Amino acid sequence: MNTLEVSDLSFAYGTREALRKVSFNLEPGRFAALLGPNGAGKSTLIALLTRLYDLQQGEIRVGGCSLRSAARPALRQLGVVFQQSTLDLDLSVEQNLRYHAALHGLSRRQSGLRVDAELARQALTERRRERVRELNGGHRRRVEIARALLHEPRLLLLDEASIGLDPASRLALNQHLRSLCREERISVLWTTHLLDEVQPSDDLLILHQGRLVASGQAAALSLEHGGDLGSAFTRLTTTGARQ
Ligand code: ADP
Ligand code: MG
Repeated sequence: MNTLEVSDLSFAYGTREALRKVSFNLEPGRFAALLGPNGAGKSTLIALLTRLYDLQQGEIRVGGCSLRSAARPALRQLGVVFQQSTLDLDLSVEQNLRYHAALHGLSRRQSGLRVDAELARQALTERRRERVRELNGGHRRRVEIARALLHEPRLLLLDEASIGLDPASRLALNQHLRSLCREERISVLWTTHLLDEVQPSDDLLILHQGRLVASGQAAALSLEHGGDLGSAFTRLTTTGARQ
């Protein structure tokens, strides 16, 4: 079963169209890079996936559950890292996670176990008592990823999560997420405006002016465009797709 199915999704802010008939699927254990320039509609898609906005047209299913008719079980399978950090800087790493586990309704014992497991998985165990304010950007992002995984979702959504990170932290975060996909069969939907964050084995979704202008395995798309994904991306995202 697909982890995520998006079909014929359209959305407008008043008369301003942000998404137009977007359809794609994501299989278990896959890393999908949702690539598009600023204003392409990436954050709008994340907002619909997380039900920040109600669906207008089209359908979204997470693990087979419809966001329209089975929102609760669908959302239960989602972990989210938003573009803007929402950590409490004055709390410790562990306190941030514990607080969130409580919001998810985990018992004290369960939450202790889950927090320990995620801290270990994100290589943060030794930083657990530090205040988030003292961590660098890359480590803060890892705390957010640990937090998003506490309730063991199948699908992790990250909206421009590498913004503001130095190149080494960006690379480390990218590699880390791909190993989560491989080893834990979590699916990741990663939005970015940076082509250099895409690897050949990724699923690549290119969004431009609200439309999906290309989708498929990055290596295959690259071949299709004469091996030069960079110029294909520029071409696909500079022509006026809006009619
Ligand atoms: P991205 O995340 O790819 O930069 P967004 O989803 O934020 O793109 O924006 C898609 C389009 O929708 C843009 O044209 C943007 O100006 C518009 N938009 C985004 N949020 C709002 C909003 N709250 N009200 C009106 N228009 C919006
Ligand atoms: Mg955005």
